[in-house]
Amino acid sequence: MTQKQKIKVSKSVVNEKEVDAVRRVMLEDGYFGMGAEVKKFEGELKEFFGTDGDITCVNTGTSALHLAVAAVTKPGDEVLVQSLTYLASFQAIGAAGAVPVACEVYPETVTIDLQDAEKRVTTKTKAIMPVHYGSDPGDLDSIYAFAKKHNLRVIEDAAHAFGTLYKGKLIGSFGDIVCFSFDPIKNITSVDGGAIITNDSDVASYIKDARVLGVHKDSEARYKGSRLYEFNVTGQGYRYHMSNVFAAVGRVQLAKFQSFKEKRQNLVKRYLELLRGVSGIKLFLRDYDAVVPHIFPIRVLNGKRDALRDYLGENGVETAVHYYPNHLLDYYHLRGGELPVTESVYSELLTLPLHPDVSENQQDVIVGLIKKFMENGE
Ligand SMILES: *Cc1c(COP(=O)(O)O)cnc(C)c1O
Repeated sequence: MTQKQKIKVSKSVVNEKEVDAVRRVMLEDGYFGMGAEVKKFEGELKEFFGTDGDITCVNTGTSALHLAVAAVTKPGDEVLVQSLTYLASFQAIGAAGAVPVACEVYPETVTIDLQDAEKRVTTKTKAIMPVHYGSDPGDLDSIYAFAKKHNLRVIEDAAHAFGTLYKGKLIGSFGDIVCFSFDPIKNITSVDGGAIITNDSDVASYIKDARVLGVHKDSEARYKGSRLYEFNVTGQGYRYHMSNVFAAVGRVQLAKFQSFKEKRQNLVKRYLELLRGVSGIKLFLRDYDAVVPHIFPIRVLNGKRDALRDYLGENGVETAVHYYPNHLLDYYHLRGGELPVTESVYSELLTLPLHPDVSENQQDVIVGLIKKFMENGE
């Protein structure tokens, strides 16, 4: 093979330890459903976050967001959310029967623009969903002050931000309702999975029932390896619980988090050093001692994003664009031009490879290609 191996933009990073955990649950325990292993994962997460709040694991981050929105809205209520986020944020709001109201972002952080959001508040607005884009929570204090002023619930889409600190505190260890994703490429993975953290006991008990088809108290029975066969249901539920097999993978990943964190932070600090001063490129300047980056987006100016992306692709470097603005999708009924800042930032965004298996050598190759392209106009 003469062709060089492709450098992936994101990937799952596991070894025999995760495989052993799956083997243990599958062959030794023999119960794949939700049970003791999920309870242990939730307990270990609670310890990690050091919170008195309730932690509930579900089958995806999207389900976590859906249940969080369903817990605090009625059908037809409006939820403020930045257009520039993963489709899952929008679909989760819609799944609960609520209406996502697309807002602008601040171009420096790609977090929700509160001046713009304020213009979109109506009597139906019940919640705001800030998205911690690139693991950066932005000015979270101002978001909570905004929510207080307008009497809104806050549902943090912290899918990117597992392990990130805000003013010295872990995202998820404080706040209203905070949702995480453990999908295959996030900061830690449980193959698929998500978690909701909240201090609101009504929200927590709703979520605990709603994840098991709305069956009251079934979560507790399942933790003990049992099920309820006579039960009551008072509302719509979903089959959103996490599997023991996936929880076992999540537990191994959680134990590895410190090393993942160091790798991600060191890689990004190195990217910033290597890319500093390259003309035509703008970097997001975040505090990478506090932020644990899930992705590494940069801004490529002067309309060169797509050409650079093609050039890197031709040279074996996979990149991505996070994200196509949701307000441009037919389903959300808005037109192009509606959110000019979002559309302009979107046109410049390019995500470079970032995961714990990226080597410094590969990083040098990537940066070398970017410099060659930007400086020689290739
Ligand atoms: C990954 C992600 C989600 C959804 O999580 P899944 O576990 O993939 O369902 C939601 N929002 C954002 C911003 C994400 O990156």
